[in-house]
Amino acid sequence: MQSRVVTGHDNRSRGMNMEAQAENLNVVCPHCHSTNRVPPRRLGESPICGACKGQLFEGHPVALSEADFDRQVQNSDIPVVVDFWAPWCGPCRAMAPSFERAARELEPHVRFAKVNTDEAGPLAVRFGIRGIPTVIIFKRGKEIARVSGAMDAARLVQWVRGNQ
Ligand SMILES: [Zn+2]
Repeated sequence: MQSRVVTGHDNRSRGMNMEAQAENLNVVCPHCHSTNRVPPRRLGESPICGACKGQLFEGHPVALSEADFDRQVQNSDIPVVVDFWAPWCGPCRAMAPSFERAARELEPHVRFAKVNTDEAGPLAVRFGIRGIPTVIIFKRGKEIARVSGAMDAARLVQWVRGNQ
């Protein structure tokens, strides 16, 4: 193995991380929640899940149960935008079409997901959801931004682009 001239250990490890990221992204299937390795340049070419053969991106939000949540949010290399909502919540229902539109616009570089807080109460407690709708952006499982209250599609897209 040939040795390479590097300017320092920190620079080298940072460079290697960037290479690794440029090679493949972990994309979690919205159907079976398997993690797929996808080259970034192929993201826009309708990639298919290796496990269930479903489309990895269909241009609309994926409904997450408590059981699916961590697999989808922790394993994803692309940011996951989660709408915490409930069927009885008027503003949540009003925002749903905007959330759909934002998903169509920002996939495949962002994953959109919905959590019904009536069905997944423990997730609402875990993330301290006090009012709905609340939208949280997760990057590799870590919360990086949240907004409570309904947003229209334009504002949603702008907010996600500014925080990914
Ligand atoms: Zn799948």
